[in-house]
Amino acid sequence: MRKIAIYGKGGIGKSTTTQNTVAGLSEMGFNIMVVGCDPKADSTRLLLGGLAQKTVLDTLREEGEDVELDDVLKPGFRGIMCTESGGPEPGVGCAGRGIITSINLLEQLGAYAESKALDYAFYDVLGDVVCGGFAMPIREGKAEEIYIVVSGEMMAMYAANNICKGIVKFAEAGVVRLGGLICNSRQVDNELEMIEAFADKLGTQMIHFVPRDNVVQRAEIYRKTVIEYEPENAQADEYRSLAKKISANEMRVIPTPLEIEELEKLLIDHGIAS
Ligand code: ADP
Ligand code: MG
Repeated sequence: MRKIAIYGKGGIGKSTTTQNTVAGLSEMGFNIMVVGCDPKADSTRLLLGGLAQKTVLDTLREEGEDVELDDVLKPGFRGIMCTESGGPEPGVGCAGRGIITSINLLEQLGAYAESKALDYAFYDVLGDVVCGGFAMPIREGKAEEIYIVVSGEMMAMYAANNICKGIVKFAEAGVVRLGGLICNSRQVDNELEMIEAFADKLGTQMIHFVPRDNVVQRAEIYRKTVIEYEPENAQADEYRSLAKKISANEMRVIPTPLEIEELEKLLIDHGIAS
C-alpha cells in the first residue's frame, strides 16, 4: 500500500485535486481510502456526494469507546473509502494530535487491514504552517510519500517551501520523501516555467500542471468530482493524467528548500510575462 499525503496552502485546491485524482486512480482499478486531515472536514465531500460524514473525533466524543469502523468510514464514488478525522473544538486542543488519534483508531478498527486490500491511502492535510501538529502524519510515519499542491502565487510557493523544510526535518530519521509538486494553476504569468524552476531548485519535479477550469466549480455545486460529473470533459482527463503519473512515479527525494532571497529571485526571474 502506498501512503500518500497531500500538503499545501489553505484554499490551494488540495481537497479538489485529491478527490479527482483518486477518482482517476479508481478508474485504473486501484482500491483507495481517503483520510481527511483538515478540521474543516471537507476532504471527502465530492466523493460522498455531500453526505454529511460524522468525523472520527466527533464520533469518539459522542460514542466513547464503542465506535465501529462503519460509523466513521463510508464508501463513496466507485467504492472509494472515505473518512474525516475532524478537529478539536475551536481554540481548544491540538488539531494535529486529533489527526493522530483518528489514524490510530482507524488502524485499531482494521481500516488498513490486509483484507481491505488497499492500494493507496491518501491523507489530505492542511499545511499553511508546518506546525508540529500538521506534521504529525509525516512525523509518525503514517504517510511516506508527499505531494505538494502549489500555484505560481507567492504565498502558495512560500507555503510549499515551508512544507519542504518540514519534510527535511523528518526525512533524515524516517521514511518520508517528496514525490513532487502539483501545480494547480491560478493563471499567474509564466506559471508553468516558474513552478518547473521551483521544483528544480527543490530537487524534485512538477509532476503535473492542472489547468484552472470552471467545470471544477460546476461539479462542486453538485458535490461531485469532475470525473463523475462530466467524465468526457478535458479537465477530467487532466486528473486522469495526474493519477497515471502518480501511479508510475518512482521519484522520491529529500527536498532542498530555498532561502527566502532565492525564492524572491525566482519570482523576479520567472514571474513576469515576457
Ligand atoms: P484546499 O483543500 O486546499 O483548502 P479546495 O480543494 O477546497 O482547497 O479548493 C478551493 C477552491 O478552489 C474550491 O472551491 C475549488 O472549486 C477551487 N478549485 C480548485 N482547483 C481548481 C481548478 N483546477 N480549477 C478551478 N477551480 C479550482
Ligand atoms: Mg481542503
